[in-house]
Amino acid sequence: MDKPPPEIAVVNMYAAREEIYPREIKGRYASLRWVCLWLTQLVFYGVPWLSWNGRQAVLFDLGARKFYIFGIVLWPQDFIYLATLLIICAYALFLFTAVAGRVWCGFSCPQTVYTEIFLWIERRIEGTRSARMRLDRQPWGVQKLLKKGAKHAVWGVLALWTGLTFVGYFTPIHDLMASAVAMTLGPWEAFWIVFYSFATYGNAGWMREQVCKYMCPYARFQSAMIDKDTLIITYDRQRGEPRGAKVKGEEKGAQSTGDCIDCSMCVQVCPTGIDIREGLQYECIGCAACIDACNGVMEKIEAPLGLIRYSTEHAMTGGLTLKEMQRRVLRPRVLIYTALLALIVTAFCTALALRTPLKLDIIRDRGMMSREVEDGLIENVYRLQIMNTGETPHRFQITVSGIDSIALATPAEVEIGGATTQAVPVRVRVAHGKGEHGSNKITFTLTSIDDPQLQVREKAAFFVPR
Ligand code: SF4
Ligand code: SF4
Repeated sequence: MDKPPPEIAVVNMYAAREEIYPREIKGRYASLRWVCLWLTQLVFYGVPWLSWNGRQAVLFDLGARKFYIFGIVLWPQDFIYLATLLIICAYALFLFTAVAGRVWCGFSCPQTVYTEIFLWIERRIEGTRSARMRLDRQPWGVQKLLKKGAKHAVWGVLALWTGLTFVGYFTPIHDLMASAVAMTLGPWEAFWIVFYSFATYGNAGWMREQVCKYMCPYARFQSAMIDKDTLIITYDRQRGEPRGAKVKGEEKGAQSTGDCIDCSMCVQVCPTGIDIREGLQYECIGCAACIDACNGVMEKIEAPLGLIRYSTEHAMTGGLTLKEMQRRVLRPRVLIYTALLALIVTAFCTALALRTPLKLDIIRDRGMMSREVEDGLIENVYRLQIMNTGETPHRFQITVSGIDSIALATPAEVEIGGATTQAVPVRVRVAHGKGEHGSNKITFTLTSIDDPQLQVREKAAFFVPR
């Protein structure tokens, strides 16, 4: 007899997404978020249009392997500065997270900022939270088609402008815009504009909180960076519970419920759709919208503000006063992060300020160690790779020292344009009988004629045959 087939159970490994319709909120933190939004976006959209010394002020020219950042020109050899900059950003993130949790996520992260802008557009076109929910429930018709079409068109234009701006950091933006208008963009430019536009449209328009929940690694390791004295957004359970509607006529101080009236406003404004009253959750991006929402409710019911507020675990469990809580913020961990950050920033700024905008590499002629030329002189040939990393052209004097009678047999002056590199072949000679047999240490010195402070030295070897 055939056995009955085993029962097949389908297990969903991924929770189905529930659409979130965050309610618009006004308040102190909402205003702060808008200030951050304006600042970051003014910088992002505005900086590529600034000019400096007749060129784009900030341009990462990957083709020419030069990064222009206002008056500074960074070359591949300056990679250390970019690496240090990344280290500074990482330390700053550690510091801010140790002090105030996910303050970066809530106020400045591009995902939060673009979601906020896209949501703003959605609200202007589709209406309030309840209007948006109604619109999504209703069957497709002319009105729904028009509203959705208009929203996606505006999102698309914004995403495209964002993509163009992003690529404008790598290709001169004026040329890029002209090519875009004339439809003559190169394949790479077109690819990156479409890619970045699509990423903006998809992440901020469609995926929103899913990016923070499932794609961003920061949420997962933030617990390693915070401790019981980190400021986090918390619900004051002691004050709020038992939650419930206020009973009419109940005397103040004799209420049967806490201050939370269970209005769910804090949930309705949350962009990740969580309930902060259930405690700190990894989905919380620290945007503080629930603080604004709850404060609004507290004002209306004439209860003290701050049922949801920035606090620390120690302050909540130990009943610390505001001053005590603030004092604990300056704990050893924070002081160490601050000291390290200050140290790296100082070293970075000093190195950048003292950086000589001139580099010299010396390559010996591989084809020939040395040769004897007229009058019995010994000659070695080199190639000087001169990099004028500044933007001003200079005329340089080349000198060589290290052996008696050593001199150049090629012109000692060379003109190098601004932000350019040039290979200069040089022949160096010494008189017969001077120097040791074999390898001798010599030094090339490159000095700017118009600015003698601008000088570099580089060691090389001069070979004297037996
Ligand atoms: S907004 Fe405040 S009062 Fe309303 S449910 Fe949330 S915590 Fe309770
Ligand atoms: S719980 Fe509050 S702070 Fe956290 S994401 Fe939601 S609204 Fe923002």
